[in-house]
Amino acid sequence: MMIEADTSDLAEALRARGRRVTSQRLVVLRELRRLGSHVTAEEVHAAVAESLPGVSAPTIYATLDLLVELGLVRRFATGGTAQLYDARQEPHQHVVCRSCGRVEDVDADLDVTLPEAAAAASGFQDLTAELVLQGLCGDCARRLSPV
Ligand SMILES: [Zn+2]
Ligand SMILES: [Zn+2]
Repeated sequence: MMIEADTSDLAEALRARGRRVTSQRLVVLRELRRLGSHVTAEEVHAAVAESLPGVSAPTIYATLDLLVELGLVRRFATGGTAQLYDARQEPHQHVVCRSCGRVEDVDADLDVTLPEAAAAASGFQDLTAELVLQGLCGDCARRLSPV
């Protein structure tokens, strides 16, 4: 099956946890990877509509939750109400334009040694960190600054 080839890591992760490997789960991950950037649940829903006719929004949300839980997809907030999903697996951060909402990857190591040490000192464990920078993209900065 074509879907299996692109998403064998998901099939393995599901089997390892005793969860069912459904074509629905595979299709959602495949489409997220095909979209290749930062997308909302609604955009994922629209993208899978052809392969999964009639699939409901709650099913899409539940599937995305599962993919996040399995560590195959990241979810982050951009400061607005929308949550974005990202299938890119390499560690990276994000920068969001506060004017047009454009989101780009930031490939830089994040040194969170000090905040992690502080959180650990108050008893937190198994810490992860997510950095979302906010700013004006180049286009908006040019558009908004009087020449
Ligand atoms: Zn912008
Ligand atoms: Zn990203």
